[in-house]
Amino acid sequence: MFSKEEKNFYQRHFLLDDIQVSGQEKLKKSKVLIIGLGGLGSPVATYLGAAGVGSLTLVDGDVVEASNLHRQPIHNYQNIDKYKVYSAKEQLEKLNPFIEVEAINKHFDVNLAQTITSKFDLVIDCTDNFSARYLINDACVLFNKPLVSGAIYKFEGQVSVYNYKKGPCLRCLYPKPPSDSLVPNCAQAGVLGILPGIIGNLQAMEALKILLNLGVIQEKTLLYNALESSFKSFGLRKHKSCPVCSSKATITKLTAIHKECKMNTLKEFEISIDQLKEKLDGTNPPLVIDCREHSELEVSRLSFTKHVPLGEIQIGTEDLDKDQEIVVHCRSGVRSITAINLMAQVGFTNLKSLAGGIIAWTNKYGME
Ligand SMILES: [Zn+2]
Repeated sequence: MFSKEEKNFYQRHFLLDDIQVSGQEKLKKSKVLIIGLGGLGSPVATYLGAAGVGSLTLVDGDVVEASNLHRQPIHNYQNIDKYKVYSAKEQLEKLNPFIEVEAINKHFDVNLAQTITSKFDLVIDCTDNFSARYLINDACVLFNKPLVSGAIYKFEGQVSVYNYKKGPCLRCLYPKPPSDSLVPNCAQAGVLGILPGIIGNLQAMEALKILLNLGVIQEKTLLYNALESSFKSFGLRKHKSCPVCSSKATITKLTAIHKECKMNTLKEFEISIDQLKEKLDGTNPPLVIDCREHSELEVSRLSFTKHVPLGEIQIGTEDLDKDQEIVVHCRSGVRSITAINLMAQVGFTNLKSLAGGIIAWTNKYGME
């Protein structure tokens, strides 16, 4: 039952056929765990709090820094040096006094995962490192909780729903954390503040749909490119020998994932147009893959490339030698980084992304 004040607060939800009072009651009874109160966690916590999810638990061990604020607007300048979870709790309680917010000022580790995961209806991963992502995934599988996961890199972001109604998990797609040298996500490459806002809001939307049992983006990952103003999706399948969620699972209890994410510089996985030109003129040229969409080839195409669109990058490169040198290019050098990341996950070992993409290449070398 809702008080008069709550009825007033949620009246626009009540008007929606798919929510009404009964849906709002479901939200009020829901318990959601949000891990990470940074760029993704800011919109996730704000919108789920505003939507009336009755119990939010926030987990983060970091404090607010001035350089966070351009992308983490749940916090504010007055709260610099305060724990992010307390800063966020303070804001949420001002926004919606009708919900309960629990703040845990710790990083999500094995102990915490063991203790709290079973209490929630849903877990939302808003972290930015692979050791946390894999631990959260494993905890969600072992405690049978749906997981909404978001990630960003430079001008691109993605959202996936894992372990929902026995669907695929993160390890079905990427059985192990990727090798350190091929982890652009960990690079301090800068981020446009609005991007995590968009991706976090998409996570919040999927979370609400799970709680209300409306359709979700099951068995696919939604990819957003801000520079191109485009959304694409690629399919996720349950892997029959997934190490954690299949009948052949080898991971049956939670353990710490020691995968140090080095702060790689972009240089480690990018190749310049001049370096590529030199290699192509040499005796052992690399294979060059163009990962743009079919429609983009009509505008420009380099004769020496193999075409595999980003959405098919793992399937379309299945038959290639995993150890050969491969350079991937797209239009401007952003999607190709996603492409090499996806290819690294399926075992490719010698990958580079062409910096500046086909735009940079044709500016200097024309349409060779
Ligand atoms: Zn799995």
